[in-house]
Amino acid sequence: MLPVDFIDMMASNLGDELDAFCRSLQQDPLVSVRLNPGKPKPDLPYGLPVLWHPYGHYLTDRPQFTLDPLLHAGSYYVQEASSMFLHQVLRQYVPKDAVVLDLCAAPGGKSTLISEYLHEEGLLVSNEVVRQRVFVLSENIQKWGNGNVVVTHNKPADFGERLHHLFDCIVVDAPCSGEGMFRKDHEAIAQWSKQNVSMCAERQRSILRDVWDSLCPGGILIYSTCTFNDEEDEKNALWIREELKADILPVKIEREWNITETIGYHFYPHHTKGEGFYICAFQKKDGPDEFRIRLEKKKPTVAITHEDEMRQWLKHPKDWTMRQADRFIIGYPTIYRDLIEYLSTRLTCISTGIGIGEERGRGIAPQHALSMAKDFKQDEFTSVDLNLQQALTFLRQESFMLTDQPFGYLLMKYHGAPLGFVKNIGNHCNNLYPKEWRIRKQLT
Ligand code: SAM
Repeated sequence: MLPVDFIDMMASNLGDELDAFCRSLQQDPLVSVRLNPGKPKPDLPYGLPVLWHPYGHYLTDRPQFTLDPLLHAGSYYVQEASSMFLHQVLRQYVPKDAVVLDLCAAPGGKSTLISEYLHEEGLLVSNEVVRQRVFVLSENIQKWGNGNVVVTHNKPADFGERLHHLFDCIVVDAPCSGEGMFRKDHEAIAQWSKQNVSMCAERQRSILRDVWDSLCPGGILIYSTCTFNDEEDEKNALWIREELKADILPVKIEREWNITETIGYHFYPHHTKGEGFYICAFQKKDGPDEFRIRLEKKKPTVAITHEDEMRQWLKHPKDWTMRQADRFIIGYPTIYRDLIEYLSTRLTCISTGIGIGEERGRGIAPQHALSMAKDFKQDEFTSVDLNLQQALTFLRQESFMLTDQPFGYLLMKYHGAPLGFVKNIGNHCNNLYPKEWRIRKQLT
């Protein structure tokens, strides 16, 4: 049952469309995925394409995603179709070599989309303030496999106070009252109240106020929610325009997408194939022309043992700067080296670029993140093609035997997609799949 106050509120927004809207909220949610263009294509029950994203597809059925090894290989992300519209805003307003902050990023749907859009040219700082959620964000970013991402765990004010005018674009996919989730999550209905809507709207303004100074003059703010009410959506958009001093930007849409243009863009389930979503783009008004970042002196390069060996594991070794912290070696795009090192002095970085190797004894072990990376040169390792049962055993992080395989580090694959490494020591293999990521579900 929908809350009466919610229906009253929507009646004033939707007029005679109210019945159709309420009926659409009783229907089952749609299932959609966004494919990873750099990884093998999964075998899924494909339906129609999502019209506003080149790699978005609706599915005709909901598979048991957890038991599909290609989900864990980062071949696709299960993402609600409406929110893929972010791609249209990016392509119309954000250059590919931009430095972007995704402020409220977990579990990573929008961040994987943004990192793909910027791939190889731009840099994404993907941030999550809630500690329990930042690790799943980092996991999803690593599985997607682009090295142009720094995952951080900071408050919005940390950006505003410490990174003056640094970002070309900030995405605020704000925590909201979740009305757009009513079809998917009945708990969202139970928790809904007018007071909560007002509380969310106030929190959204406080997040925006706190982060605002880190957006450069002329930079783009993309504000989105998964809710329908105008207090969190249109009224906050007007507040951004007036209080933060920004222009609202029009986004080109096609008629057949059935997106509703208000102040910003609404995805109503009785019109558009997707769940509730609202998005609005802004341009910060010009301010004083300053340097965006004052970079500090470059860190001296410290020699890394086994660096030459690790460079051979990458398709474009010259594009990566390697750094060592404790036993771990990471690689990040050389074009963003100074900026990444500057960010690491200002923010709490959870993962940066690609985890490449780990010193073990006198040797070097490949890190799991390397196997997920799109720049990983797979033929540097002997690979073993697993069947479904074996792949799931691997992803449960159980140990298993491989006969007739060389000793040492071997790359496990499923349908051509890397799943991770094992170390074959003869009588069994040490499974190097990250323990925290292991799946617990069994085949039924
Ligand atoms: N962008 C994500 C995606 O596409 O997968 C979904 C983000 S969700 C709508 C909002 C996020 O904001 C949550 O991860 C939540 O933990 C975070 N959040 C909650 N309170 C916050 C606050 N006060 N400041 C910043 N982020 C907050």
